[in-house]
Amino acid sequence: NGISKTERFVLSVDVGTTSVRCHVYDKCANIRGSCSSKVSLLYPQPGWVEIDPEELWKGFVTVVKGAVQDSGLQMCQMEGLGISTQRATFMTWERNTGKPFHNFITWQDLRAAELVRSWNRSCTMKTVHGVTKMLHFLTRQKRFLAASLVVFTTQHVSLRLVWALNNIPPLRQAVEDGTCYFGTIDTWLLYKLTKGAVHATDYSNASATGIFDSYQMCWSGFLCSLLSIPLSILPRVQNTSHKFGSCDPSIFGVPIPIMCVMADQQAAMFGECCFDIGDVKITMGTGTFMDINTGNKPHTSVAGLYPLVGWKIGADVVFLAEGNAAGTGSAIKWAQDLELFTDVKETEAIATSVADSDGVYFVPSFSGLQAPLNDPKACASFMGLKPSTTKSHLIRAILESIAFRNKQLYDIMLRETHIPITKIRADGGVCTNDFIMQLTSDLLGRKIARPSHFDMSCLGAAFVAGLGTGYWRNQEELKKIQSTDKHFNPQRNKSEGDKGGQYRSVLQSWERALQRSMHWYS
Ligand code: ADP
Repeated sequence: NGISKTERFVLSVDVGTTSVRCHVYDKCANIRGSCSSKVSLLYPQPGWVEIDPEELWKGFVTVVKGAVQDSGLQMCQMEGLGISTQRATFMTWERNTGKPFHNFITWQDLRAAELVRSWNRSCTMKTVHGVTKMLHFLTRQKRFLAASLVVFTTQHVSLRLVWALNNIPPLRQAVEDGTCYFGTIDTWLLYKLTKGAVHATDYSNASATGIFDSYQMCWSGFLCSLLSIPLSILPRVQNTSHKFGSCDPSIFGVPIPIMCVMADQQAAMFGECCFDIGDVKITMGTGTFMDINTGNKPHTSVAGLYPLVGWKIGADVVFLAEGNAAGTGSAIKWAQDLELFTDVKETEAIATSVADSDGVYFVPSFSGLQAPLNDPKACASFMGLKPSTTKSHLIRAILESIAFRNKQLYDIMLRETHIPITKIRADGGVCTNDFIMQLTSDLLGRKIARPSHFDMSCLGAAFVAGLGTGYWRNQEELKKIQSTDKHFNPQRNKSEGDKGGQYRSVLQSWERALQRSMHWYS
């Protein structure tokens, strides 16, 4: 195929919620080979969402081999491996045998909802709430405590891990015996790839667990002792760009260096080249994650934006503030499973086939409502159904709700961070939908760029891995090879800046629908 055997490439894998994808990248960040496999989610009880760790591991190995085979290249031409993973999905296992004590408990899992509620109501929390009011008098560390304690959520590891420690006796025993390892997906993959030699994670993954102190840049001793989480089971936290080890040669035939593990949203941010303060990216996959680069300081929020470490490379740390909406691709998938349409690609044409949603509003709350309402007990609902309502109206209402959540998240980001927005880039499976993209641009009143290749998490982990090996020189070089497929510009008659915007009253009605869906499950 005319490729010199000495030419080098970077491998990157993204472990998402719906699939595991691997791409082989060349110097221009072109994809030379790809392979993906589905992630099967297990629902052993209502609200529980798990992943089988052995199946995930097999899928990982399969996609790496498949992508290299697809590229027609040799494994020995892969100069480094980057891994991006869904965050806050965790497992515990026996450190010597690698035997899991339970399946991965994913970020979507609601088994700790009760614990979350009782902790958020507890005496300790009330004290912290009081203390938060004096935020500006506090030290940075205490501000972190306030910020992270004000809202425990099921999406963080913290209380789901407490649940596991309380409910799985062999795990508790192993903790006592000192033979337990805790890990997020990256940690488990590092452990498997190095045949048990490495127990590590990186700052971006650690900061998404809810038990990491982003101010002190270490596991939070305070939170761990408050929740009785033993520090001894937690992995060592390394730089995002770090030689974590090499893949055991028995796996891929050659010892490929593992140069980056990174949390998916932070990796997407890196893949979008959002390197500068004020850069924003919106990832719309299973859920929506909107992130703003807040520079070298974590942002302390009261409305539910989460402070994250974006990445740590050398001595430089970049922080992000993140807002999240759980019901994006998942809402679309639900409608598909219900046979409202057959192919997701049809949804855009269906939505534009009607002038509006005919007064129907969809509340995308299958896993509660996140920032700024922060209500795990909100229900999903359609409101305003009429005899005249058609499938098309329902589909339009679902797509609109995704853009409406974008608008809500963007507004709190502006209100809370006071950082001028420099650019906005979108990615994730749902960003292929031009209807959602255009409506988001209209509502934000901002230009939004969509890359031509939007497996951004994969690309971001590849970028970090390639910078680490010297494959790419610096961030400027990455900006040059970044590609953009399309810019969405706000349409004047619809945009937020225009008082006659057709969505002004629609948004208000939708917000009323949100209010009515709140506190549904008591
Ligand atoms: P994740 O990384 O969370 O697994 P992806 O970024 O792969 O998710 O996005 C997958 C989601 O994108 C699926 O829920 C799918 O229904 C949705 N999707 C893909 N294409 C479209 C489209 N054209 N319109 C709307 N949704 C889409």
